[in-house]
Amino acid sequence: MSMFCYQCEQTSKGSACTLTGVCGKDPQVAALQDLLIYACKDISRYAHRAYEAGQRRDEIDHFTIQAIFATLTNTNFDGGAIQQFLREAVKVKAVARQLATEATGQDEEFDCPVRWEAAVEDRDELIGLGESVSIQNRLDLLGDDLTGLQELITYGIKGLSAYAVHAQKLGQQDPEIYAFIHRAFDYLTGKPESAEALLALAMECGRINLRTMEILDAANTGAYGHPEPTRVRVTPVKGKCIVVSGHDLKDLEELLNQTEGLGLNVYTHGEMLPANAYPGLKKYKHLVGNYGGAWQDQQKEFEQFPGAILMTTNCLQKPKNSYQDRIFTSGVVGWEGVRHITGHNFAPVIEAALALSKAFGCSVNELPLSFILSWFEQKAVAILLTLLYLGVEKIKLGPSLPAFTTPAVLNVLVDKFKIGPISSVEADLAEALGK
Ligand code: SF4
Repeated sequence: MSMFCYQCEQTSKGSACTLTGVCGKDPQVAALQDLLIYACKDISRYAHRAYEAGQRRDEIDHFTIQAIFATLTNTNFDGGAIQQFLREAVKVKAVARQLATEATGQDEEFDCPVRWEAAVEDRDELIGLGESVSIQNRLDLLGDDLTGLQELITYGIKGLSAYAVHAQKLGQQDPEIYAFIHRAFDYLTGKPESAEALLALAMECGRINLRTMEILDAANTGAYGHPEPTRVRVTPVKGKCIVVSGHDLKDLEELLNQTEGLGLNVYTHGEMLPANAYPGLKKYKHLVGNYGGAWQDQQKEFEQFPGAILMTTNCLQKPKNSYQDRIFTSGVVGWEGVRHITGHNFAPVIEAALALSKAFGCSVNELPLSFILSWFEQKAVAILLTLLYLGVEKIKLGPSLPAFTTPAVLNVLVDKFKIGPISSVEADLAEALGK
C-alpha cells in the first residue's frame, strides 16, 4: 500500500512520503487522515450554508477544528482514534445538514462519490476510501500547481485549527474563524477557478490565522497572565516526577492542580518550555523547571527520564519500548497502544512587530528586520500565510522549500513577496546584518 503526504518539512527526499511517513505515520493512518479531511469538507458544505444564513453550532465548529488538528504532523498516529473521529463526523454532518435546512429552507443533497459514512464501522473499507481521495489522485487530475495551492490552504487551515482548539479550550473563540474554515473547505470541494483565486483564499487564511492568534493570546494571558522573564531550572530535583510536552497550557494547569501536595515534581519539555513564564502557572511550586532539549530529542531524553510523560499536542514521535508504558497522550494526540487521557505562540511576536511599525512611522518592510522562517509543519504554514497577508516581504524560508509549492507557485511568491530560500548561516546573517 502506498501513500502521499508532503505536508511538512521532514517529507521524504523533500518531495513526498509515499511508502511510509518519515514521522512514523503509516499508509493506513495516512489514508484515514485523508478521509477525515474529506469528511470535514463534506460537513463544511452544510455548515457554510448555515453560516451564510446566520446559523451556527458549537458542536459542529468544535468538532471540525479538533478533527482537522488530529491530522497535523506528529499529532495522531492511532487508526482507531481517527476512525472514531469519522464516526463522530457522521453525526456532526447530520447536525450540519439539519441546521442548513432549517436556516435556508432547502434540504440540499450534495454529490458525494466517496461513501465514507456507510463504511464507518469497517476500517479496511475506510482505508480504501481514504486512498481514493489521496492527494496523488488530485495531482493526476489538476496538476501540481493547483493541487499545491489547495494544499497550501488546507495546511494553513490545519495550523490555525490547532491554535483555535487551544484558544477554545480556554474559553475563547470567534465565529469568523469557523465561518472561514467552512467557506474554504466548501470551496475546496469544487473545481478551482484559477490559481489566482486559490492564492487570494490563501491570503484570507493568513488574515484569519492572525485573528486566531489574537484570541489565543487573549486566552493564554487572560487565564495565566502575561509571560515575564523567568529563570527556568534545567537541573533535576530529587523526587518522583512527570514531564509535560506540547502546547496545551490548560492540560498543564489541570495536571498541576491535581498533583498539588502529592510530592510530585512537574517539568516542561520542548515546546512547553514557555509555560514556565506565565504567572498563573509558575505560581505552582511543584512546576520545578524544564527537562531536556528540543522535541526531536524526545526518544533519547524520555528514555532517560525517570517518570511519567504527558504529550498534549503535536510533537509526538514513535514511543520507544523503553517508555511506552509511562507515556500518555491527551486532546487530539494519539498513538496506537499508548494510553490516552480523555477530558500554544507567535502572536505576541507579530503583535509587537506590528506595534513597532506604528512606533517608527514606517512600514514593517522599512525596518531593519529580517524574517528567517524555519518551517516544519502546518502551524508554520499558517504563520507564513499571516506574514504574507500582513505584507511582510523578503522572508527567507527553509531549511528546505515546501514540496507542495511548485516552481510556478514559488515564482508568484518570489514576484509578489520576494520570498527566498534559506542559504547558509553565514550568508543569511551577513545579509540580515547588512554586511
Ligand atoms: S507529516 Fe511530514 S513526515 Fe509525516 S508523512 Fe506527512 S510529509 Fe511525511
